[in-house]
Amino acid sequence: MTDLPIYLDYQATTPLDPRVLAQMMPYLTTKFGNPHSNHTFGWEAAAGVEIARKNIADLIAAEPEDIIFTSGATESNNLAIKGIAYAVYPSKNHIITTVTEHTCVLESCATLERAGFDVTYLPVDSRGLIDLAQLDQAITPKTSLVSIMAMNNEIGVIQNLKSIGKICKLKEVIFHTDAAQAVGKIPLDVSAMNINLMSISGHKIYGPKGVGALYLRPKANIQPLTLIDGGGQERGLRSGTLSPALCAGLGTACKIAKQDMAKDHDHIHHLAEKMKSTIFGSLENVKLNGSEEQRYPGNLNLIFDGVKGDALIKELRNISFSAGSACSTGRAEISHVLTAIGLDKTQAECSVRIGIGRMTTDQEINYATNHIIDAVKKIRTRL
Ligand SMILES: *Cc1c(COP(=O)(O)O)cnc(C)c1O
Repeated sequence: MTDLPIYLDYQATTPLDPRVLAQMMPYLTTKFGNPHSNHTFGWEAAAGVEIARKNIADLIAAEPEDIIFTSGATESNNLAIKGIAYAVYPSKNHIITTVTEHTCVLESCATLERAGFDVTYLPVDSRGLIDLAQLDQAITPKTSLVSIMAMNNEIGVIQNLKSIGKICKLKEVIFHTDAAQAVGKIPLDVSAMNINLMSISGHKIYGPKGVGALYLRPKANIQPLTLIDGGGQERGLRSGTLSPALCAGLGTACKIAKQDMAKDHDHIHHLAEKMKSTIFGSLENVKLNGSEEQRYPGNLNLIFDGVKGDALIKELRNISFSAGSACSTGRAEISHVLTAIGLDKTQAECSVRIGIGRMTTDQEINYATNHIIDAVKKIRTRL
């Protein structure tokens, strides 16, 4: 028997890996020192922070001194986008992003627009991918920053980071990527991909909530404007006492992700294929949202024609997954991502996101697959 309820919402958050918790515990108990204190307790805590910094850097082929800790990818994205925009303003006042970014990127850009910046929102095609020629053409001498996410949180589509990086390098603009969903799941190399800034989140990679990181090595040594002033921690870019426990948690999550990346991928790919082929073999009028090829297998965003996502979720109280139409805050709005790939209101409302991860088991997938199929059939007979 499978333990219920079953968690299939790994894009919203992931469970803490027990190996991560084990590495955090000492910093919540005996090694409680302030990592910025200059004595034995402080040095002990600081040593933990620096090991974590190295583990994060290793996962993305960066140098530890280019990693700063934040409270999560939301803060990292805010710091990257507003920080760089203001650092080079007013000589440059133009930013390029995409219509399918996470809300924290879109809202950071909206704030900049209200402050007088110009923002270009690149569209995506029906697969969820940007047009590289369009990006190239959008860059002007006034462009300071290109911010394009690595892997979409709603539909799992992976942008072509290497090509984007190449264009940004050639045009000498700074390239930031929100990699909250991609880090630890696909190989990332900041040098090979010409990435200047990268946002990372702890709780999307089996680490704790409330911690993230920003990889930061903008060319020409442009220092972003700080959002949080104070004691000057984190190279003066992000003041405040670090939590060694949270840092160790993020660092360990990165270390494990690097070690287990191939194994995790095989496991998740196997489960996703099984669920997908069974669903497509048992039901008519099902579609996968987003590119078939350039995607992460652990994200199955599906349209079940005639079945509202909310109705399916209500029918399946033992299985936790997301309605594709709902915004992150639960507002009953149509997803901007599903709209961007060309779905109409009804199709978006009939979309659900099923997220499979490291801890998902074969039994859970069997149970969930069968019950989803039954529930879709049941709801369709009511029509
Ligand atoms: C979850 C997520 C964020 C926000 O990360 P937090 O650490 O929760 O602030 C940003 N971008 C993407 C793509 C995400 O999936």
